[in-house]
Amino acid sequence: MSSKRMKNCSFCKKPQNQVQHLIAGPSDQICDSCVLLCAELLDEPTPSGSTEGEDHSDHLPTPSEIKEALDQYVIGQDRAKKVLAVAVHNHYQRLRILDEEDGDEVELEKSNILLIGPTGTGKTHLARTLARFLNVPFAIADATSLTEAGYVGDDVENIIGALVHAADGDIARAERGIVYIDEIDKVSRRSENPSITRDVSGEGVQQALLKIIEGTVAHVPTKGGRKHPHGDVHKVDTSQVLFICGGAFSGMERTIATRLGGNRIGFGESGERVEPGPELLVQTNQEDLLNYGLIPEFVGRLPVISALHPLDEDALVQILTEPKNALIKQYVALFEMDGIELALGDDSLSAIAQLALERKTGARGLRAILEDILIHPMYKLCGDRTVARLEVTPASVTGEAKPEVVRVEPEEAA
Ligand code: ADP
Repeated sequence: MSSKRMKNCSFCKKPQNQVQHLIAGPSDQICDSCVLLCAELLDEPTPSGSTEGEDHSDHLPTPSEIKEALDQYVIGQDRAKKVLAVAVHNHYQRLRILDEEDGDEVELEKSNILLIGPTGTGKTHLARTLARFLNVPFAIADATSLTEAGYVGDDVENIIGALVHAADGDIARAERGIVYIDEIDKVSRRSENPSITRDVSGEGVQQALLKIIEGTVAHVPTKGGRKHPHGDVHKVDTSQVLFICGGAFSGMERTIATRLGGNRIGFGESGERVEPGPELLVQTNQEDLLNYGLIPEFVGRLPVISALHPLDEDALVQILTEPKNALIKQYVALFEMDGIELALGDDSLSAIAQLALERKTGARGLRAILEDILIHPMYKLCGDRTVARLEVTPASVTGEAKPEVVRVEPEEAA
């Protein structure tokens, strides 16, 4: 009975006899004018459906939303991701409160972050991914490239200059950006480091960094400003910039084990043995950082400390294949554009991960390993219509053989 009744567009409710076409779905119908209206709506620029680089001005992401976004690109390191997500949420919450200028609010202090972990475990990657998700400008600096001259302003300006550049010259945006300072452990005044000049310099660099981290007005020359003695400078207030420092802090495990052992090397409080393994790094506290050679004022400015684990074989395989921009996905897409299917079995992926482990470069070494394997075939085969498939075998990973080329049947090629 109901099938005999006149149908209506489920969207505008017009009856069938008043429209040109009525397209029926399993339970609803849509008329031609509504289809056209929908097409127009789809043509309008809309915020991207991805979580990447969204405008967060009207919604500050919660820590779990930040963690979820990081999960799409950063494998493992769950604890570090959570600590970072909370710290970053609080940071931008604090800026929001400052914007509202509500004098009655509790004054929240800026919480810069210290990431500790071996090279290639994702410290820089975390910071960069975070900035991209939050859609804030991001700059990377290397503490070892800073000299004590930074103390009087030169190198400090460079870091902030890079941030202004990342913000396309928008000073207000730069002032809310994120700066990652790498190799912070290399500017410690370590007692094991006998070089006086190095010690002094390390401390000097920490002092210089302290200034921008706690907040200063940096004078950054505008484009060409340096060339003209009285050229323009941007004044950039760094007090709201979030600083994330990172370092491997090799040997820190021993410092922690000694502390846990009440200064009896290798023993815990209740007398049990404490092995100075990498898992101890999560217990790093401010005392350990002081012992390692960071100056107290600097440690005081890095209240959030988080450790990253060394990556094992499984994690490295996941990094190769799972993140949205995983290396293997990228190479597969590149070969596909030339009509070649790139194939890597689980055993080949494991072989690549093992090679990275041997090189002790963490995930950082993965790209170089893949380039070694694939650059030559890419050079030779791309554009060759007779190639259907390139198989990366475990032997081709270790260099004992070449990746196997599978060609199309001659008639197909023709
Ligand atoms: P570091 O800890 O030395 O700062 P990086 O973050 O620079 O290491 O890592 C080097 C590269 O390795 C990154 O660009 C990223 O592609 C990859 N990588 C490292 N760790 C991870 C991880 N946990 N998840 C996904 N990719 C990672």
